[in-house]
Amino acid sequence: MTRKKQSRGTCVFCGKEMTKGGLSRHLKTCQQRAEATKKADHQAGKVEPIYHLQIQDVWNSDFWLHVEMRGSATLNSLDTYLRSIWLECCGHLSHFAIGGGWDGQELPMSSKARMLFQPGLELTHIYDYGTTSETKVMVVDVRQGKPHTTQPIFLMARNHLPEERCKECGELASWLCIECLYEHEEPGWLCDQHVEKHPHDDYGEPFPIVNSPRLGMCGYTGPADPPY
Ligand SMILES: [Zn+2]
Ligand SMILES: [Zn+2]
Ligand SMILES: [Zn+2]
Ligand SMILES: [Zn+2]
Repeated sequence: MTRKKQSRGTCVFCGKEMTKGGLSRHLKTCQQRAEATKKADHQAGKVEPIYHLQIQDVWNSDFWLHVEMRGSATLNSLDTYLRSIWLECCGHLSHFAIGGGWDGQELPMSSKARMLFQPGLELTHIYDYGTTSETKVMVVDVRQGKPHTTQPIFLMARNHLPEERCKECGELASWLCIECLYEHEEPGWLCDQHVEKHPHDDYGEPFPIVNSPRLGMCGYTGPADPPY
């Protein structure tokens, strides 16, 4: 098997494009980020610890986020964020845990980041106890200062939409057929042309690909946009 190229994303501060590992290092030294941070620190408001989190899907590490989260924000805010950008289909239960999503120690949603986080800490987020999405949250770094926004979380980078190929012709796909996936155990990727006469509709029409690791799970169709 040929190893697929790692997905890339863009640093929101300087526009450089990198892998998630590259960004993890880059964000520590990005000149434009340092300048933006300096500016934020000169605004009114309280100084608090602000955490750099690297977030990724456990099963498909091509889906990832780099965010800053303020110390006064709660796990509840992070849960809301993850639901909005990646997960929410029909209001399933979710939780965070340390030491494994299922057998680790579950954390109260009201926990504040600053009471819990320190660089090196790893949490697991579980969404939906049936068709489960599992997300790893790693605390990469911390700075003392002021956040870039009034919101609890600030998006610094996310992976570009992964490129999938049409199962019929190998062209770039923009649709996914769930029936292919579930009933025929085939990749259900389809291009604009081959989606037209595709015979399956047991799970509804094929739907557009969105930038989320939950695409197709429990009928998830997006929109996979950040909440703010
Ligand atoms: Zn940068
Ligand atoms: Zn659902
Ligand atoms: Zn095609
Ligand atoms: Zn199909």
